[in-house]
Amino acid sequence: MPKFEYAPAPESRSIVSLRESYGLFINGEFGPSVDGRAFKTISPATEEVLAEVTEAGPADVDRAVTAARKAYEHTWSAMPGRERAKYLFRIARIVQERGRELAVLESLDNGKPIRESRDVDIPLVAAHFFYYAGWADKLEYAGYGPAPRPLGVAGQVIPWNFPLLMLAWKIAPALACGNTVVLKPAETTPLTALAFAEICQQADLPPGVVNIVTGAGETGRALVEHPGIDKVAFTGSTEVGKQIARACAPTRKKVTLELGGKAANVVFEDAPVDQAVEGIVNGIFFNQGHVCCAGSRLLVQESVYDEVLASLRRRLATLRLGDPLDKNTDVGAINSAAQLAKIRELSEVGEAEGAQRWSPPCELPVKGFWFPPTIFTGVSQAHRIAREEIFGPVLSVLTFRTPAEAVEKANNTPYGLSAGVWTEKGSLILWMASRLRAGVVWANTFNKFDPTSPFGGYKESGYGREGGRHGLEAYLDV
Ligand code: NDP
Repeated sequence: MPKFEYAPAPESRSIVSLRESYGLFINGEFGPSVDGRAFKTISPATEEVLAEVTEAGPADVDRAVTAARKAYEHTWSAMPGRERAKYLFRIARIVQERGRELAVLESLDNGKPIRESRDVDIPLVAAHFFYYAGWADKLEYAGYGPAPRPLGVAGQVIPWNFPLLMLAWKIAPALACGNTVVLKPAETTPLTALAFAEICQQADLPPGVVNIVTGAGETGRALVEHPGIDKVAFTGSTEVGKQIARACAPTRKKVTLELGGKAANVVFEDAPVDQAVEGIVNGIFFNQGHVCCAGSRLLVQESVYDEVLASLRRRLATLRLGDPLDKNTDVGAINSAAQLAKIRELSEVGEAEGAQRWSPPCELPVKGFWFPPTIFTGVSQAHRIAREEIFGPVLSVLTFRTPAEAVEKANNTPYGLSAGVWTEKGSLILWMASRLRAGVVWANTFNKFDPTSPFGGYKESGYGREGGRHGLEAYLDV
């Protein structure tokens, strides 16, 4: 095999001009919090402080909700859909124009490889705004009645794994339907949401239509429990999702929850092995496995187990882990020290429970938060690593003999967000898809996203759909 070294190919970070500190974005302007509290956001790859960010308390959340209410009543809900569409198109165009800057900023704050932020996250952000811009003046044809009404003010809380993309999934349909929003980004990844606030200013979006309140879990709680909001949209852990569902149950708030997953990626003996191995790698090592729909449980048909595993190990040995801003990097940094601790803990549990752990030779940088791509074999369904969301680059491998056994094992989880099927037989794909209890079933591919396609879960993966025509329902009074 020819041996060669990759030359470093770093993306320049000079395109990003970071401010020393960022205020809250309320009523179209950046400003301080009432009590002056702030926190720092760091680069998980180097632990370097990137900026200081304002922490919103309940009084700030209240100001943001008031601004959103005013904008809803006086401006946005009364504006014809075709006019709202113009703003959404404008935002989409600015996201494209500032795409490189946003990609670098996302990789700096989140730790994900620039190849992914540049080629996946940011193009999908623009695509979401373009797509929902198209719906804004056609809502009466969406299948929700002749004159569907918006809900009012949406309180939206998003996680750190796809910061700007989750913002787009939340804000684009909300605005298209005529709602205004208060959004709280995750504590560890607020910077692209704040850049988005600048984009709202650049697009001349009327003040108060979008408000961004930064902070930690308490800020999120103040937002979802605020009596002035009509709709809660949350993406994050199942645990917090349940707390939110409980808090909203006695209210009139409409709630959508997009929570955890433990997806099965099922490889049948007739699947093209090289293609399936690429899909397995993409399924669990894309974005360091910080993906709610990650294919974290590989189910391989026994007859091809040795071949698939040998091929997978060979492929893993070629993955490059390191600087997220290097264009050759496949696996970036783990988003936070807390997440790294969780991945380490569950991996140790996997070993203690008797599964065999394997990682390719892989040098980890000294500074920052890193975890090597890892495979566990000899995993049984009872093991915690087969049941719990690890949310890291860790794959649990199980086997099966018959399609019925594959379905049984794939569905043996409290979650139901996604699944993958690899086979040459179309009939087997359809047979599996109709039996897998998962919101999305990918066939001979994995982690494919498109704004026109609805996404969401069964069981403890949450309820409601985002994306596509179905995603409008969450923001309409239907
Ligand atoms: P959380 O569910 O805590 O975070 C998601 C968002 O909710 C963040 O903005 C968070 O703020 C906010 N939040 C936290 N507590 C509350 C609350 N009581 N009320 C309202 N909002 C709140 O996830 P973590 O970041 O703590 O990650 C923990 C685990 O959750 C991960 O290890 C992973 O397994 C899973 N996870 C799943 C995701 C998915 O998409 N399925 C996404 C993220 C995590 P802040 O970040 O500031 O704490």
